[in-house]
Amino acid sequence: MVTTFRKRPTHLRIDLNALTHNLRIVREHAKDSQIMAILKADAYGHGLLPAAKKFADLGVNYFGVAFLEEGVELRRAGIEAPILVLGGLVGNQVKHFLDYHLDMTASSLYKAEQISREAQRMNRTARVHLKIDTGMNRIGVRVSNGAGFALDVARMPNIDLVGIFTHFVRAQGPDLELANRQFELFSELLNELRKKGIEFPLVHAANSSALFNLPHAHFNLVRPGLSLYGVPPGAHLYGKWKLKPAMSIVSETVYFKGIRKGSGVGYMHTWEAPRDGWLATLPLGYGDGYPRMLSNRADVLIRGKRYPVVGNISMDQAMVWLGDDEVGVGEEVVLIGSQGEENITVWELAKKAETIAYEILCGWTPRVPRIYEGSGWKP
Ligand SMILES: *Cc1c(COP(=O)(O)O)cnc(C)c1O
Repeated sequence: MVTTFRKRPTHLRIDLNALTHNLRIVREHAKDSQIMAILKADAYGHGLLPAAKKFADLGVNYFGVAFLEEGVELRRAGIEAPILVLGGLVGNQVKHFLDYHLDMTASSLYKAEQISREAQRMNRTARVHLKIDTGMNRIGVRVSNGAGFALDVARMPNIDLVGIFTHFVRAQGPDLELANRQFELFSELLNELRKKGIEFPLVHAANSSALFNLPHAHFNLVRPGLSLYGVPPGAHLYGKWKLKPAMSIVSETVYFKGIRKGSGVGYMHTWEAPRDGWLATLPLGYGDGYPRMLSNRADVLIRGKRYPVVGNISMDQAMVWLGDDEVGVGEEVVLIGSQGEENITVWELAKKAETIAYEILCGWTPRVPRIYEGSGWKP
């Protein structure tokens, strides 16, 4: 016998139609440049495969991920477009990159040699993008050594030099000086290489910030991530970019009670009721990705109205102060998203949690059930 039971009322909702909307905005800005949709970290928490399939259906024909495993998952799900693994190529992974037809990032001469050697051994040609460091100091060959690096790799057997790229330290504005300096350094390198007869089919630098703020730095391919999911890379950009957030987090009041003035709430009693009033308990906590840093800081929406989260958020539960409002149990609670006229953005929570929107988006743990709405593939 199959026992059915009501699933927990906390959900991460993804509006697939919002991805359509955001891609349209991204395309308007990208103009003639190709788009590589960035799908790392489970598509910023939106679900790797639903996001990939949606973007593929909408005609996106290049994808970017961080790690080999993410690329392999896309291939196993039938995604056939080129996929660039932006970050790690560690140890002896080259064979797998070749097996799964994944574009590789050569971030040093040593890695390029590794790629060439393995490709020769397998009698295959590796598709390679050179990573140039123009200031991030993360991975990549320093731009001052970039020309020598590119010339060396160009001579290596079994390597198809598909692209060259760099990454911006800060392009969300308002200060774009550093980004422009990186752009200049990268452009000078490209000029130098052109004079030496080396040109790359794909040249790319722009993340979401640069896509919107540095149109001269689009080259012929842009790499938006965050903006495709409807979140701008800075809280100050919501109005300007007209993106539609795809993710919302919704729960329900599961416990409701009156408390007396002076009663402490939650672990450590970090909050006390200022007067007699009502308190609701929500069935989610930091074990789901609702940061404990939001204790006594975040608001939630119930019946279209804001209420504060009070006391320490625990692993599985959080409390909300309702004052005089007798909302009862079974009421919808929005933690991220809109309800009535009110709206809580990812950036609002990020600021209160002293982090950035990216971390809030990809922090929801597998324990939170995902619900997909709108048209597109659903898991
Ligand atoms: C994550 C990432 C991007 C996308 O950045 P967004 O700010 O999300 O648009 C682009 N390029 C590289 C190398 C990245 O790591």
